[in-house]
Amino acid sequence: MKTYLSIIEKLKAQNVTLVAVSKTKPQEAILEMYEAGQRIFGENRVQELLTKYEALPKDIEWHLIGHLQSNKVKYIAPFVSMIHSVESAKLLKEINKEAANNGRVIDCLLQMKIAEEDSKFGMTEQDARLLLDTDFSKLKNIRLVGVMGMATFTEDMVQVQAEFQRLKGVFDALKYTYFENEPSFKEISMGMSGDYEQAIAAGSTMVRIGSLIFGKR
Ligand SMILES: *Cc1c(COP(=O)(O)O)cnc(C)c1O
Repeated sequence: MKTYLSIIEKLKAQNVTLVAVSKTKPQEAILEMYEAGQRIFGENRVQELLTKYEALPKDIEWHLIGHLQSNKVKYIAPFVSMIHSVESAKLLKEINKEAANNGRVIDCLLQMKIAEEDSKFGMTEQDARLLLDTDFSKLKNIRLVGVMGMATFTEDMVQVQAEFQRLKGVFDALKYTYFENEPSFKEISMGMSGDYEQAIAAGSTMVRIGSLIFGKR
């Protein structure tokens, strides 16, 4: 049996959503997995996402998982199903504006900085609280459905586990303050090929797996 089929089955049994990260992979590889039943695919670049969206079946749910510049939101707003990488109020407002232009509500995750290593991307819990306190309630064309984070790239699984637990803690705290009566705020997007088991143990609801199912990039 193909590796990806057993991984898809395993995640299904654990009730964890698989975002199949298809960046750099050819359309045939995506179609093969599509034919095996996978519908959610993740890309990290806008141009590549657009090309694949045009060419592939329209019932694919495309998730943008990489850094997004405000001036590119308009290209993906007509179809993107979830944006994992919201890390500023400015970006969230732009997504809201372009979603409104397309008569849509776009699901978004707040990308949180959880890694010890110095990563450029992601918000602190304080950043997130400031955004939720000030800008958020007026935005009717986005729906915040949870948080996303990336652990440090290290062999030290104790550290990775601690970082995932930190993200779960941030999720719980934001949920308690802002989303207690919003069942749709429920996603914790964490875990990649090398650390998804640790992420699931820490409470991940959505894993983003590329090389383990598509092969090395
Ligand atoms: C590439 C990428 C992944 C998948 O990485 P793999 O190690 O290939 O599973 C997950 N999340 C983000 C944000 C990525 O850019």
